[in-house]
Amino acid sequence: MTNGVIYDNIVVGAGYGGLVAAALLAKGGQKVLLLEGHTVPGGCASFYSRRGVIFDAGATTLSGMATGQPMQRLFSELGIEPEVKKLDPGMIIIFGERKLTRHADLEKWIAETEGFFKLPGLREFWELVHKIDRVGYELIGKNDKLPPTSLGDLISLAKPSNLKGLPLIPYLFRSVEAVLKKHGLADDPLFRSFIDEQLLITTQNTADDAPFLTAALGLAYPAETYYPYGGLFFPAKEIERKFKAFGGKAEYKKRVTGISTIHDGYTVKTTDGSEYKTRGVVTNIPLWNIPEIVDGKMKAHFNSILPKTENAWGAFMVNFAVDHPFDEDIETAYWQIHVPEGVPHCESKSFFVTFSLADDSRKAPAGMKSVTISLHTKPENWQGITREEYGRRKAETGNFIINKFNVAFPSLREQKKSYIDFGTPQTFERYTSRYQGLVGGVPHSVSNNLLKMSSGVTPFRNFYNTGDTVFPGQGTVAVTIGAMNIAKRILDKG
Ligand SMILES: Cc1cc2nc3c(=O)[nH]c(=O)nc-3n(C[C@H](O)[C@H](O)[C@H](O)COP(=O)(O)OP(=O)(O)OC[C@H]3O[C@@H](n4cnc5c(N)ncnc54)[C@H](O)[C@@H]3O)c2cc1C
Repeated sequence: MTNGVIYDNIVVGAGYGGLVAAALLAKGGQKVLLLEGHTVPGGCASFYSRRGVIFDAGATTLSGMATGQPMQRLFSELGIEPEVKKLDPGMIIIFGERKLTRHADLEKWIAETEGFFKLPGLREFWELVHKIDRVGYELIGKNDKLPPTSLGDLISLAKPSNLKGLPLIPYLFRSVEAVLKKHGLADDPLFRSFIDEQLLITTQNTADDAPFLTAALGLAYPAETYYPYGGLFFPAKEIERKFKAFGGKAEYKKRVTGISTIHDGYTVKTTDGSEYKTRGVVTNIPLWNIPEIVDGKMKAHFNSILPKTENAWGAFMVNFAVDHPFDEDIETAYWQIHVPEGVPHCESKSFFVTFSLADDSRKAPAGMKSVTISLHTKPENWQGITREEYGRRKAETGNFIINKFNVAFPSLREQKKSYIDFGTPQTFERYTSRYQGLVGGVPHSVSNNLLKMSSGVTPFRNFYNTGDTVFPGQGTVAVTIGAMNIAKRILDKG
């Protein structure tokens, strides 16, 4: 039952979106309650542990950390310094026997791709990618009223420093494929599969339909990749610690089951029968989850703006610990392994591997590595089947991936692997409550570009949305940008 306290804002969900919004609102002097259904914060960027080994729930890479970029700005605004390490190479991509090393330095990277793919036009292509990445981040940093939702927002965008963004606008509507064609790069199958698999883990789409503007930020990200010690849960925990230091209150194992309008705000109900009063609500759950917890006009509104689920993805996960009794550490933490023939019950033609670093004693004891593997699958591959068939598919997919891992990393083939776990979209649905286990947000496409994404501002008084299904979308950096913008809007209103 309600304890008589009236909050300024209740934040529903403690993923990166909810944590960032909650911390900034509390820092701005608001009385904030953060309600999370799970036992710990972090959502898709959270963790689980097995006897001293920490495994990532989903997300592993940290980016947006260069000076002026969103994560750096957030950490500095909150006064936190999570322990991170810039990786160079930021990623290594394996194609059978061949290795492509994603150097941080642009010249080295261009030379690497020219040597590997032997195609003309690569220099111009990568220079364009990095230019758009640079200008894109600069504009995001200078404009917190994105996407514009009112005349006032539009006016705030009309400033001279935004003029350099004008040449970028056509790339919102131009596919990566069109740009590849212009540079004579569209028809090489190897380069195309490299680009498609890089885009799938960033824009959640492939070259034929991914808009070049957001794709460029995705293609450039491995040049500026950071490894968070202990996993992405640790920066999340730091944000939560600051939230509490600013007077915020976080309650766990409190899944929100209902939000109703009252004359001066909302009542929020949770699974355990608690009821809270608040003037405002910030949701950090996928838009698809909102209709089930609101009623009346709100339900009708959210049902009318739901992004298409058929374009969205689920994830298949493989986690295990592997003995690593070698003196020399692995070359980098992040790897993408191409599997041209495909993976059973999955749509990706590659899988993404994250190793804990040797000096990361939070994640695994000396001589052992925590390994997280993820790839894209459709929830339908795991629905409408018997428990036996579900178990069979899960084992088939997981064992297939471990076999491919052993081929890609021959020195680890004979090493002992323990705590092996496989996860499907149903696992995500169970632990994060995300509708159908859909993760990674809404794919960016030419027809459904950034401007068409829900802004997070709703027609309902003091009711906002954050998270990866609203602008600007996928990944912890984009989710952080969205949450920072929403918190600013709320605080500006006073
Ligand atoms: C396999 C995988 C790999 C990824 N890799 C990366 C990566 O390397 N780098 C990167 O930046 N991003 C990555 N991402 C994307 C990134 O994890 C997400 O975009 C981001 O973490 C989403 O944050 P969010 O706040 O929008 O939502 P979530 O993380 O889903 O958080 C939502 C929270 O709300 C809670 N919740 C749900 N319903 C309720 C309710 N009714 N009441 C209370 N609480 C509720 C959930 O338990 C959860 O904690 C990856 C995602 C996946 C799945």
